[in-house]
Amino acid sequence: MVTRTRVEEVHIIWMTAGLGCDGDTISTTAASQPSIEDVLLGAIPGLPKVYLHNPVLAYETGENFMSWWYKAERGELDPFVLVVEGSIPNEKIKSEGYWAALGSDESGQPITTTTWVDRLAPKAWAVVAAGTCATYGGIHAMAGNPTGAMGLPDYLGWHWKSKAGNPIVCVPGCPVQPDNFMETLLYLLYQAAGLAPTIPLDEALRPTWLFEKTVHEGCDRAGYFEQGDFATEYGSPKCIVKLGCWGPVVQCNVPKRGWMAGIGGCPNVGGICIGCTMPGFPDKFMPFMDEPPGSKFSSSVSRSYGRVIRSLRQFTNDTLNKEPSWRRPGPELKTGYQPTWK
Ligand code: SF4
Ligand code: SF4
Repeated sequence: MVTRTRVEEVHIIWMTAGLGCDGDTISTTAASQPSIEDVLLGAIPGLPKVYLHNPVLAYETGENFMSWWYKAERGELDPFVLVVEGSIPNEKIKSEGYWAALGSDESGQPITTTTWVDRLAPKAWAVVAAGTCATYGGIHAMAGNPTGAMGLPDYLGWHWKSKAGNPIVCVPGCPVQPDNFMETLLYLLYQAAGLAPTIPLDEALRPTWLFEKTVHEGCDRAGYFEQGDFATEYGSPKCIVKLGCWGPVVQCNVPKRGWMAGIGGCPNVGGICIGCTMPGFPDKFMPFMDEPPGSKFSSSVSRSYGRVIRSLRQFTNDTLNKEPSWRRPGPELKTGYQPTWK
């Protein structure tokens, strides 16, 4: 459904006060399609004017910076997009103190991150979880953590909808791939401008066009996998599944897209995929540097037929590496040319 109401201005309230490292904010500064500057300076036609309030990137500090939070709370920034970075701690498991907070109230007590989510989420046009901690809990929510941390959909509910009818939008990644995040934000801005239908999300609330394919499906080492040719040590250009790559069962586009401007990535450049975009990360992937148990069957099957396929391909490849016989100097034309005007 296309939102018909045209929005002239959108504020982005970006809260980095979850349990996190600000890595997603930093990562996003590397985006180029679009860049943060493109969005803020109005380089993209048709978009609303965008005001960004992120503590890492803002000029304002202290209470001046916090004033935007209070305006949003009072309903004076309508519409605004709430971006949450870092996982949400469970503040109910202790009698005093706080796990995470931003700003302070009249009595000088810190305002917890969960309080801000409770205050702002119901007033937001859309809520976006940036990075795997905010989306699914991530590293901070791993077994043995003391905070009871969780992702935003765990906290608000997986079927939660904003007042504009938008589900929570999850852009996972640890950190988030720069252009993945900015592309999602761009989509939402087009949606707010009435130029796009409701953002398509999968069952884990991820934008479908970014996360529906697996790492393996976009990895340029998959040719080695298919031929049963596996690296036995780091530094090899071959498939690294036996060194711990989880690519065949992980949804992420980084090897296909690269990290910045097509450069970098993970298994495509020799680093095992540890499944950092997945709801089961990190516990279900550890220890990272062991071969994934599920890959043993598929890799041994491809190893058995891969040798035969490789030798047949080598044979064909040898013939393709030789030019046709008629490409020679000499008095006679041997190309098979038949003139039609004789
Ligand atoms: S390195 Fe990983 S993602 Fe790439 S082909 Fe091998 S198993 Fe698949
Ligand atoms: S390829 Fe794997 S490790 Fe790399 S960003 Fe994607 S999910 Fe994370």
